[in-house]
Amino acid sequence: GSVTSAESGALERAAEAALRPRRLDEFVGQQVVREQLSLVLDAATGRGRPPEHVLLSGPPGLGKTTLAMIIAGELNAPLRITSGPAIQHAGDLAAILSSLEEGEVLFIDEVHRLARPAEEMLYIAMEDFRVDVVVGKGVGATSIPLELPPFTAVGATTRAGLLPAPLRDRFGFVGHLDYYRPAELHEVVARSAVRLGVPLASEAAAEIAGRSRGTPRIANRLLRRVRDWAQVRGSGQLDLAAARAALEVYEVDESGLDRLDRGVLQALCTRFGGGPVGLSTLAVSVGEETETVETMVEPYLVREGFLTRTPRGRMATSLAWEHLGLAEPDPVRG
Ligand code: ATP
Repeated sequence: GSVTSAESGALERAAEAALRPRRLDEFVGQQVVREQLSLVLDAATGRGRPPEHVLLSGPPGLGKTTLAMIIAGELNAPLRITSGPAIQHAGDLAAILSSLEEGEVLFIDEVHRLARPAEEMLYIAMEDFRVDVVVGKGVGATSIPLELPPFTAVGATTRAGLLPAPLRDRFGFVGHLDYYRPAELHEVVARSAVRLGVPLASEAAAEIAGRSRGTPRIANRLLRRVRDWAQVRGSGQLDLAAARAALEVYEVDESGLDRLDRGVLQALCTRFGGGPVGLSTLAVSVGEETETVETMVEPYLVREGFLTRTPRGRMATSLAWEHLGLAEPDPVRG
């Protein structure tokens, strides 16, 4: 039968898990965050107390989950993983909080997507290590305060700005992850190839690194596709020719833009004359959720100079027109 996207998501997560660095010193790049975090962790370990709560922000696939696992690993602490969307009711969060062990690391992915009542419960738990458990219903309901052992919350968000200030303020350390440089991604794929036990030529690693949109998750994914190509159509060698051929099959262009990235630019230029156009209109025109375009597509296009945000909407740059091989219309004369 066909593989559903939930299944392929689970398979990809398993493939990713196998490639995760386990210690801070195996974590490639993000020099600034690594140094800051290592200080926070060492200081806490020295005091024999759990560290303050940590917020990690940055685009998807840059290593937030990996860092949360590393934090728990470095502290030798148990790790609990959940996410904003997985917590439907405050009661779900109460159940998690009240079962935390002393020093446990509680990772909350997409923490900006917690519902309001859960968010409020989280503030109190983070600040006072207390959760108010409501017993009974209606007029007879009473709230019983339950003391929690000290724990460390690690929140992840694609944009720290999405977080309400009261929640953001309860994180003692906020680390911002930025897109990786090609040399760093080169190191990521080289290490992954060793773990996978495949021979990866340095030029092939460079090719993959240069086309991975600054994102280790994408670099590792492309590495696996190059491996597939080399196994099925090539000689088993992951050389430059195999890398280029595989990237062509998977429609990743020389700038690392994938089908969706190009689809967004194409729509912007051909349907909206290069903009300005609102993000949600643009998302609808490519059949995607606004959030997907906002978190997965736009930041990289902006960073690479293909798209700009203006108060009136998104606009294509000259580089975008050029990249798509389209003639840029003359600017409107005023
Ligand atoms: P999301 O926010 O979508 O959960 P994420 O930022 O948490 O994404 P991870 O799941 O931690 O991303 O990382 C994705 C993949 O990239 C994993 O396979 C991980 O091993 C790899 N990876 C991420 N950062 C690094 C790094 N600095 N060094 C080596 N590998 C990395």
